[in-house]
Amino acid sequence: MEVELTAPNGKTWKQPLGLFINNEFVKSSNEQTITSINPTTEEEICSVYAATESDVDSAVSAARKAFKNPTWKSLSGTERGALMLKLADLVSEHAETLATIETLDNGKPYTVALTENVPEVINVFRYYAGYADKNFGQVIDVGPAKFAYTIKEPLGVCGQIIPWNYPLDMAAWKLGPALCCGNTVVLKLAEQTPLSMLYLAKLIKEAGFPPGVVNIINGYGREAGAALVQHAGVDKIAFTGSTATGKEIMKMAAGTMKNITLETGGKSPLIVFEDADLELASTWAHIGIMSNQGQICTATSRILVQEGVYDRFVEEFKKKVKEISVVGDPFEEKTFQGPQVTQAQYERVMGFIQSGKEEGATLMLGGEAAPVNGKGWFVAPTVFTDVKVDMKIYREEIFGPCVAIVGFKTEEEAIEMANGTTYGLGSALFTRDLTRAHRVAREIEAGMVWINSSNDSDFRIPFGGVKQSGIGRELGEAGLAAYCNVKAVHVNMAA
Ligand code: ADP
Repeated sequence: MEVELTAPNGKTWKQPLGLFINNEFVKSSNEQTITSINPTTEEEICSVYAATESDVDSAVSAARKAFKNPTWKSLSGTERGALMLKLADLVSEHAETLATIETLDNGKPYTVALTENVPEVINVFRYYAGYADKNFGQVIDVGPAKFAYTIKEPLGVCGQIIPWNYPLDMAAWKLGPALCCGNTVVLKLAEQTPLSMLYLAKLIKEAGFPPGVVNIINGYGREAGAALVQHAGVDKIAFTGSTATGKEIMKMAAGTMKNITLETGGKSPLIVFEDADLELASTWAHIGIMSNQGQICTATSRILVQEGVYDRFVEEFKKKVKEISVVGDPFEEKTFQGPQVTQAQYERVMGFIQSGKEEGATLMLGGEAAPVNGKGWFVAPTVFTDVKVDMKIYREEIFGPCVAIVGFKTEEEAIEMANGTTYGLGSALFTRDLTRAHRVAREIEAGMVWINSSNDSDFRIPFGGVKQSGIGRELGEAGLAAYCNVKAVHVNMAA
């Protein structure tokens, strides 16, 4: 059920291959597996068991039993918090191994995995551990005849489905609040990147969580994911992924009227006004689209620049991309951009680039494959200028290192363009005018606005979208609302 792996950085570890159910790794019922591929070398890493519908049923049963078991149910918030803190400590101890696995399986730079992604897991677990004994109801004063109060209760069994772009962090964003509130979980990993979270599953057991509280399964979306969403024993579905899949999940979850949280796609605008600090704007605009190989749901993939500074901004931005976006082996320290996660994603991004060329946008930078040692799903950082608002590269989510730059004349026009999309996840704006900054922030239809930065997310601050970018919020105090019911108790004081 384990295989010993060694990464190019010399790190060696025992990689679990099973489905993590009831604190044990088990085979899938029909022994089917999915092979994880290293996107840098296109070589196989290992094959991991993939859950069938019947395995999903076993995982849900384990979670249901654990939910009722006093070993979990009777724990105080303080005790749950202590378990979560222990888990955070273990993640910290195993940081280098977790970061290595993430880089091997996903292709993201090791320095990013180690200094940003793993610390985010630790921060999220610690943050929600702190809330575990501070998340209580209210007394509602309605006069002397009635005493009324509320209790915050866990929802029950939470099905959580995560994508491949941030395997560790997306899992932490979901596990943190769910466990804080006393739920039990069946977490389905993305079939492209299951390895890091299977390793973390070992730490969950070591931290002392009772069997069945956290179950972690790899599997295909249409098989394991769909079975989880439709399962009558699941009370809630939390999903991060594409808008198309989010819509399917919403429909399937309707069968048993499940509580749902969806965090889906985006085509987030970044607006540069004429009075902006262009050095600052180009620095953040680069981070906003080129980080994580452009595979970020909040990527500011449309850059809207006011006429008077259009040419200067484009020059600054081009300079930043050339200087910072070093494409290469993700285990090398100087690498900023690794490969796209899979061949399918690589082909998708290259398809969008082709459409941008065909639709007549100006290709300012990149636009081609950039293999390293003749291998890997690398795409050169790509910048299109003179983009028109009806072009595919302007309208659709590319999920790669490819940005569309367009010009605008007035603030009103910028707001209209920013909002002219079915999405509403992130947004960014650059100006030195404080009044305009807050005025525009209010007008933008998005879950998040970054003023003079981009994609500067924080685990203490709510994250989520409006329109077709999702329902509900993760992170911050707001993230707790997705994982508990508020029960009202009315006491007749005249009795
Ligand atoms: P992508 O197309 O980038 O892989 P998806 O939104 O399809 O993004 O995938 C995100 C997560 O949703 C993955 O864990 C995937 O397995 C899962 N998934 C995909 N299709 C379904 C489905 N029909 N039902 C449930 N989960 C699904």
